[in-house]
Amino acid sequence: MEKIKMTTPLVEMDGDEMTRILWADIKKELLEPFIELKSEYYDLGLPEREKTRDQVTIDSANATKKYGVAVKCATITPNAQRLEEYKLSQMWKSPNGTIRAILDGTVFRAPIMVKGISPVVKNWKKPITIARHAYGDVYKNSEYQPKGPGKAELVFTSADGEEKRQTIFDFDGPGVLQGQYNTDRSISSFAHSCFQYALDTHQDLWFATKDTISKQYDHRFKDIFQEIFDAEYKERFEKAGIEYFYTLIDDAVARVIRSEGGFIWACKNYDGDVMSDMVSTAFGSLAMMTSVLVSPEGNYEYEAAHGTVTRHYYKYLKGEETSTNPMATIFAWTGALRKRGELDGIPALGRFADKLEAASIAVIEGGTMTRDLAGLWERKTPAKAVTSQEFLKAIRKELEKRL
Ligand code: NAP
Ligand code: MG
Repeated sequence: MEKIKMTTPLVEMDGDEMTRILWADIKKELLEPFIELKSEYYDLGLPEREKTRDQVTIDSANATKKYGVAVKCATITPNAQRLEEYKLSQMWKSPNGTIRAILDGTVFRAPIMVKGISPVVKNWKKPITIARHAYGDVYKNSEYQPKGPGKAELVFTSADGEEKRQTIFDFDGPGVLQGQYNTDRSISSFAHSCFQYALDTHQDLWFATKDTISKQYDHRFKDIFQEIFDAEYKERFEKAGIEYFYTLIDDAVARVIRSEGGFIWACKNYDGDVMSDMVSTAFGSLAMMTSVLVSPEGNYEYEAAHGTVTRHYYKYLKGEETSTNPMATIFAWTGALRKRGELDGIPALGRFADKLEAASIAVIEGGTMTRDLAGLWERKTPAKAVTSQEFLKAIRKELEKRL
């Protein structure tokens, strides 16, 4: 078979620990034999971030803006222990945070579903994609603990000096107090990313807040979504046969549980934090969860939702074989290749991505899987728990049958 040729490079962001090992194995076993892989390589592994004073992360994000599509390996976000372990000059920021700040995007997370491992919620037949607004609200709050009686006020001083003041509460004793904000600009880009992604993936979009209680703050989210939808997306949604639907967050929770899945659920920052853990746990495992950052300008960065799987890496360093699940990382690559194919008009790339995903799922559905999944397997015939290497080889064999 002739290798598939690419015209525009993918921005390749390498990472750390066990996922870095899997990254190289996936390329060698599943991609390079079939594609003349064209990538612009950025090493986001912690040693290189230290060496370049994190410039490499910034460069990789800017390259994503230039080319439009990136694929990212999991990376270490340093803490005090990593500072010591990697002899770092400082605690570099989370690469995902840096990239998100430059691309200004929304993260969409969706489970990879396989027959033989069913969601805890029986009626969920299709994936539920969570879109979390990753800016502001309680994550950028200001808090205060009054120690005794006093008046709490909300004061806004406009740029030209005009003051607006309102009483929050007259305390007659100690208590707690919190200020939050968001911006029209950030809410608008969140809305654009969500509408864009709904069109891209051909799924309905649900959005929910608590606007009956938060009549200005949450209501602003609702209004911005509706205004943008009416002005720019309504017709395109109609043409695509998909729906935008707004409801209250408590109603949404009830509807999500009763649903069959197969839609995007847009959440405010806190709701998304909480609900994405609930949804991913109910679907099975973080190792079976894809994640893509979509910017309002239409740039895409694909990654796995899990971390660098440190515990397995330490075993690997001792020479032990590990059974680390590569599915989410494989799907990061297929997502990126499919998008590159779409943008460049290379349908062969999309077909390859479809086949690689189908082959990977078929191997699991046939009963061969990594150890994390074997424990969830529900069929009578026991699952065959294999090492990462054996699992990749099985996928390779299945893929070759399909090409
Ligand atoms: P983690 O790497 O996701 O791993 C936590 C545990 O989940 C693992 O020990 C393993 O459980 C299981 N697990 C996760 N992915 C798996 C896979 N693909 N296959 C099999 N099991 C898997 O989270 P962490 O240990 O909290 O974080 C490790 C490092 O990753 C940290 O330095 C953190 O900063 C970084 N991190 C990066 C990202 C990112 O780049 N997107 C996200 C999160 C964390 P068992 O040990 O029980 O087998
Ligand atoms: Mg969380």
